[in-house]
Amino acid sequence: MLSREKVVGCLRASGLTLATLFGVIGGVVFGLALRTREAVWTDREVMYVAYIGELFLRMLKALILPLIVPSLITAVGSLDMTLSGKVGMRAIVYYMGTTVSAVALGIVLVVTIHPGVAGQDKGDIVQESRNVTTPDTLMDLIRNMVPPNLIQATVQQYRTALIYPGNFAYNDSGQIRNPNDTQTWKMKGEWTAGTNILGLVFFAVIIGIALAKMGEKGKPLLAFFSCLSDAMMTITTWVINLAPIGVFFLIGGQVLGTNDFGTVLNQLGWYFTTVLVGLFIHGFIVLPIILSVCTKSMPFRFIANMTNAFTTAFGTGSSSATLPVTIRLLEEKNHVDPRVCRFVLPIGATINMDGTALYEAVAAIFIAQVNGMDLSMGQILAISITATAASIGAAGIPQAGLVTMVMVLETVGLPPEDVTIILAVDWLLDRFRTAINVLGDSIGAGIVYHLSKDELDDMEKIGGKGEGFETVPLTEVEERNFK
Ligand code: ASP
Repeated sequence: MLSREKVVGCLRASGLTLATLFGVIGGVVFGLALRTREAVWTDREVMYVAYIGELFLRMLKALILPLIVPSLITAVGSLDMTLSGKVGMRAIVYYMGTTVSAVALGIVLVVTIHPGVAGQDKGDIVQESRNVTTPDTLMDLIRNMVPPNLIQATVQQYRTALIYPGNFAYNDSGQIRNPNDTQTWKMKGEWTAGTNILGLVFFAVIIGIALAKMGEKGKPLLAFFSCLSDAMMTITTWVINLAPIGVFFLIGGQVLGTNDFGTVLNQLGWYFTTVLVGLFIHGFIVLPIILSVCTKSMPFRFIANMTNAFTTAFGTGSSSATLPVTIRLLEEKNHVDPRVCRFVLPIGATINMDGTALYEAVAAIFIAQVNGMDLSMGQILAISITATAASIGAAGIPQAGLVTMVMVLETVGLPPEDVTIILAVDWLLDRFRTAINVLGDSIGAGIVYHLSKDELDDMEKIGGKGEGFETVPLTEVEERNFK
């Protein structure tokens, strides 16, 4: 029998999750309701409405750097070398396996549903497209892993830019600069605003390894980082409590600021549906099956415990901004060891994006269909490889996938401007794929933890370096929220 206390207890325990879910739905209703009052809202009015949401997003973003760097250092530093190698390897195998399966699923769906009709309206928004070649994009990804200046890496990223030679080919000291062949253009490197998370993540792993190798001598620094990451975790808990309000205003503002969504959806409806169906199958069928096969347990509780992370991902459109929430929930609700969680999640959030990979493949083939282009098997294979790379290269920020899409289009010779075809619905798809990205990372951490459990226990028994983390005890209110 369901007693009253039980129901009340359950509601209380999932209070925050329910409130955040209401925040999402309420935000949509709020945005739509405001739209009925006035047909067009100015940018300024939309900014006022989204203001509270913006503050929430800024708080989350403020936590990313001071949280992931110390957490990663402590996690790697408190494992011994062979174990961190094994944990890392398991994570990479999982990331590659799930990303490739997401791409394959996307391709099967887009080829079967065939959402693109040749000659479809290509949209009239002309977006400034950047000229890059696929090798440049891939090499920039690796370049960013090795930032020459760490302080700079906290604010800037590197990228290669190609200089347009003008309308006519010319001879530049023996080299022909041909406007029709980007490979012949002059190259230059440029720094763009945005944290180079990938570079910092790699550097943190390296410091962690160094500290682990130093043994006793490395302990003081390890203790410092461990303390810093615990302090950030405590702040994260406070910020998560604001999620319902933050998400409400973020989504309300977005709905309010989007004009003509109905018309756009009419044109792009099938494309939109294909991506959504793919994300749904991957997130709610494929990944849960992998989780239950690997851990031999039912996936429902694990996934339900992460609801708050999904709603935050949906509200913010950024897996990096959601990272503090994801880590907190995995540790507190799903009891994943912090040494695994804080090691694999920051890496996962930057390189493992199943939702993005699936979307890149679907969108590229959709654009080819709109252009009336018949793709050969070889071209489809090329799309799957670059879609995988594009998802690895995409930063965990809103609509980053749209930027790396240029690379996928380029592989099959489609003009980069054609990303404008899907631009109108991208903000919404971005939120769905971000939620699936976060789900993929969470399940990955759960699986890697399960597979590494015995070794972690052994390490503690030998009196190893497992004492790196002392998770801050929760206050009574937090305890309730995270149960
Ligand atoms: N917004 C996505 C994320 O943060 C990346 C993308 O697909 O654009 O995970």
